[in-house]
Amino acid sequence: MNARRRTPLWCRGRLLLLVVALPLCGGRCARVPPPPPPEPDGERAFRHLEAQVEFGARVPGSAAMLRCREYLLRELARHTDHVRVQSFSMLDPYGPDSLHLANLMAHFHPDRAARVLLAAHYDSRPRADRDSGAAAELPVPGANDGASGVAALLEVAEALARWDPGIGVDIVFFDGEDYGASGDLDFYLLGSRYFASTMGSYRPRAVLVLDMVGDRNLRIPMEGYSLMRSPDLVRLVFSVADSLQAPGFVAAPGDTVYDDHIPFLERGIQAVDLIDFDYPPWHTRGDLPQECSAASLESVTRVVLHVLWRLGAATGP
Ligand SMILES: [Zn+2]
Repeated sequence: MNARRRTPLWCRGRLLLLVVALPLCGGRCARVPPPPPPEPDGERAFRHLEAQVEFGARVPGSAAMLRCREYLLRELARHTDHVRVQSFSMLDPYGPDSLHLANLMAHFHPDRAARVLLAAHYDSRPRADRDSGAAAELPVPGANDGASGVAALLEVAEALARWDPGIGVDIVFFDGEDYGASGDLDFYLLGSRYFASTMGSYRPRAVLVLDMVGDRNLRIPMEGYSLMRSPDLVRLVFSVADSLQAPGFVAAPGDTVYDDHIPFLERGIQAVDLIDFDYPPWHTRGDLPQECSAASLESVTRVVLHVLWRLGAATGP
């Protein structure tokens, strides 16, 4: 191809037509792609992780859980006017009383039909059953298992308050994810199961679940159920991570994990669980902030923001 080749006459005519036609569209013919997301602040996210742990273990029904719930609602309300609580109750499978639970929801651009759901669980496990002796009867502090995903999503909310990814976004903090006794799968995922069973015609284009994303030795592979049931979304997430050279993301198949993405996969909705399941203090009293890092939270938050950007850019007007 010769760079000095003259543009053929017919082609110049089309260019002219295009120039004339553009103003007639009133600027609505072509959709302006959303601007790139802002840079997340891992240190700010880490302070949200520490704040949750300082309330004490967020066991459903505990005073620490109620205090943490108020804190999270206050934080979400700083970023959007559309914050809701979805309360529900059930008989406690491990005690004589009712269990009162609540999912916390924040909506960005609630008028848009095309939506993405971002979720994390904010409860912590009532028993550290990977510890031995008396410690096994005490609750898990849940710095990584619970607080980390919430902390990263609060940082996402911070970005969404000033940046429009071009698609509607719902952030949900699920209650009761980690309530079940070991092997008692019916009593895990309480909040996400309730949410999914009551969501009616709501069909997010993608669900991203963040769980155990704060490990200071971060290694997030492609979780097994996500890869089986939502391979395209998994590929999108890991191609974004690769393009960002995001620390901690490993584009290789990982374990299958029973987590809050399952109720959505069961309904045929594309869902990915971002989880680092290789975490020695898992379900022990040692799941503390010093096992986590701001850099890990920042890496995950950046990937989530860029996935939103890609999904927004692919969405029609
Ligand atoms: Zn757990």
